[in-house]
Amino acid sequence: MSFTVAIDGPAAAGKGTIARAIAERFGFHHLDTGLLYRVVGSKLLEAGPLSDIEARAPVIAGRIVEADLSDKRLRDEEVSAVASVVAAIPAVRGALIRFQRRFAAREGGVVLDGRDIGTVVCPDAEVKLYVTAREDIRAERRFEETRNHPAAPGRQVVLEAIRARDSLDSGRSAAPLRRAKDAVLLDTS
Ligand code: C5P
Repeated sequence: MSFTVAIDGPAAAGKGTIARAIAERFGFHHLDTGLLYRVVGSKLLEAGPLSDIEARAPVIAGRIVEADLSDKRLRDEEVSAVASVVAAIPAVRGALIRFQRRFAAREGGVVLDGRDIGTVVCPDAEVKLYVTAREDIRAERRFEETRNHPAAPGRQVVLEAIRARDSLDSGRSAAPLRRAKDAVLLDTS
């Protein structure tokens, strides 16, 4: 038997914290789906100058294996920005949907968090949450997380990066960030 919890929302709203807590409490498998887009972005960056993204990114997306998701550099801000760009390419989303649905079909419960889990990846999920918070609060959280790193960006830079990602994620035509009609709204502001 499988049981799916779908969690969506914008960057730094608290989706990951909630997803990990649910997975731990109920012994469910957890997939942070943002990591998949980050792997594609990171592998593109590793390969050198960003060119021919539309053709190369779907090939990379089709070859992702679970071990790729534990690379520590996936959280870098540079990777975040490229992840949102590749996430707007329909062929990348198509390749990653297959990975996510295979994961969701695992025995026992699963929790997936991302942007389009309740709307596109797992529309039949038993539980759907849409987690959000005010933009300034999300930016402040991200700033606090990174402020002790050697090359940490300032508050304003973090806020602008969050705004840019939100606007790409909500404005794209392929699976834009939306609250599913049947998702429970959680405002963590
Ligand atoms: O959640 P995270 O910030 O790690 O996601 C990185 C990027 O991946 C997001 O800004 C978004 O563009 C993309 N993404 C997506 N669909 C998902 C998860 C992430 O488009 N289900």
